[in-house]
Amino acid sequence: MTEAQDHLLDWLQDAHAMEEQAESMLLSMSLRLTHYPELKTKIDLHIDETRQQAMLLATCIERQGGATSAVKDTTGKLMASGQAFMNMFASDEVIKAGLASYAFEHLEIAAYSALIVAAEQAGDTDTQTICERILQQEVAMAAWLSHNLSGTTRKFMKLSGDPELIAKR
Ligand code: MG
Ligand code: FE
Repeated sequence: MTEAQDHLLDWLQDAHAMEEQAESMLLSMSLRLTHYPELKTKIDLHIDETRQQAMLLATCIERQGGATSAVKDTTGKLMASGQAFMNMFASDEVIKAGLASYAFEHLEIAAYSALIVAAEQAGDTDTQTICERILQQEVAMAAWLSHNLSGTTRKFMKLSGDPELIAKR
């Protein structure tokens, strides 16, 4: 195994762990959302994408001779966004989760940008193509979240004034 292949496998396993964390964060967010149907729908669509991404990464890991069971517990857990997701019971949890998911999508964008170069250097064109495709999904999700945040915040502010409603989610 070359140095490039070694790093590629390492980062593929990190990305797989990152996607598993993404799935659990997105799931808990979706389950709790009640007053933000557009956000919930988008989160649910991205849960499907996230599961597919994890499956595709597993095929890349296998091609490089690695195992997904040996996934490490790194990048995602070091993220400040993980902290924000644990604070989801805050009175403004929809906003906290919105910021955290926006940050997480950008971690993913960075991870796939590095993986594309690593795959190219290692001569694994299938992995390169897969990572380029996943990168586009993460870029699209980050853009949607960015665009949606002002509307969500406006709605949160409006609902916050109504004591009958639970604006926070
Ligand atoms: Mg992802
Ligand atoms: Fe994502």
